[in-house]
Amino acid sequence: MNIIVIGGGIIGASIAYHLAVRGAAVTVLTDGRPGGVATAASFAWINAAPGNSRPYFELRVKGILEWHRLQHELGERLAINWNGSLTWTNDHPAMATQFAEHASWGYPTRMVSSSEAAQQEPFLVSYPDQAAHSPLEGSLSPSETAHVLLEAAAEHGARISTDGVQSLVSRNGRITGVQGEANEIIADHVVLAAGIACERLAGAVGVKIPMANRLGFLAQSAPLPPTLSGLVLAPQAHMRQNADGRIVVGADFAGGAAPDDEDAAAENLLASVRGLLTSGDDVVMDRHTLGLRPVPADGLPIIGSVAQLPGLYVTVMHSGITLAALVGRLAAEEILSARPVDILAPYRLARFDGV
Ligand SMILES: Cc1cc2nc3c(=O)[nH]c(=O)nc-3n(C[C@H](O)[C@H](O)[C@H](O)COP(=O)(O)OP(=O)(O)OC[C@H]3O[C@@H](n4cnc5c(N)ncnc54)[C@H](O)[C@@H]3O)c2cc1C
Repeated sequence: MNIIVIGGGIIGASIAYHLAVRGAAVTVLTDGRPGGVATAASFAWINAAPGNSRPYFELRVKGILEWHRLQHELGERLAINWNGSLTWTNDHPAMATQFAEHASWGYPTRMVSSSEAAQQEPFLVSYPDQAAHSPLEGSLSPSETAHVLLEAAAEHGARISTDGVQSLVSRNGRITGVQGEANEIIADHVVLAAGIACERLAGAVGVKIPMANRLGFLAQSAPLPPTLSGLVLAPQAHMRQNADGRIVVGADFAGGAAPDDEDAAAENLLASVRGLLTSGDDVVMDRHTLGLRPVPADGLPIIGSVAQLPGLYVTVMHSGITLAALVGRLAAEEILSARPVDILAPYRLARFDGV
């Protein structure tokens, strides 16, 4: 089966890998350097933390577990920090209630004392009386991981091209391929994994993808010696340390306006890091990124075949880092078997019918 995957971010890379391993003839078109757009700007926290409905929480837990499965498949080259997270907020009673609910859902999370928190993260300046420790959570280097998955896909015969797709091609009511930069490429299936560009590419063939993308601003320090064990989610900032030693920091999961002065905003983020770490004086600015989170209008992923246009399979979501290993496998299985996977039923594009 010939399959085109549009997108070289973490979602396209994972789908391409899982298709190629299963014997499909895969062409990935990335429109420039592989590694993704949202992916490259991501905080890259793998989690099923509070704030979601129970069914979506359960999908996210499966997402976490699938990264372990993928690590068994790919070995050491798929590096993930599995040292968990430490969270505290200014509203301790509300947080304790939220985390207690998650614990009752079976999520490994519990409130720990300041001394236990210090064992988890020894290099913080001070510790809250109570923090939530969630040992199942992790983080990865997002673009590097997309590269690893694309390399693994190529080892199974996938062709990776940096060409862009100008449009999807439809004939007789089905998608038959794409118009590339130079010529039309024919395929049995086209997987649209183009992040925020999904909306435009699908819209041009009459498929509406309702999106409510949100901004996300992060700063990164120059590399430091090992300082953070896992993720630290404090009221003033959330941060983690990349495998290359850089501290990645953000302060806002909700989105909001772009900073008026990005350099100043990044300096503020690093000032928070300096206030949190015992080695704060060594924290030096390296870069900052303003990314767009691809967020479907109701906040939930869109995954699956498009009923009105056979041959087209769409994947666009936030929390693509958490979900990429799972979505890659399930998308590959749905496309190759032509059988829907039940747990994806709530995430079909058809739920937006009538928008
Ligand atoms: C600031 C920020 C923080 C985040 N934090 C987290 C987090 O902590 N945990 C989490 O799980 N998720 C997080 N996310 C969300 C997560 O990063 C995304 O859900 C995920 O990266 C989406 O991956 P993707 O492959 O779908 O899209 P992208 O990474 O955007 O990749 C899209 C790909 O499509 C390609 N493309 C676009 N147009 C075309 C075209 N015409 N032809 C060919 N190719 C094309 C692009 O070049 C790119 O390769 C965060 C996102 C941001 C921005």
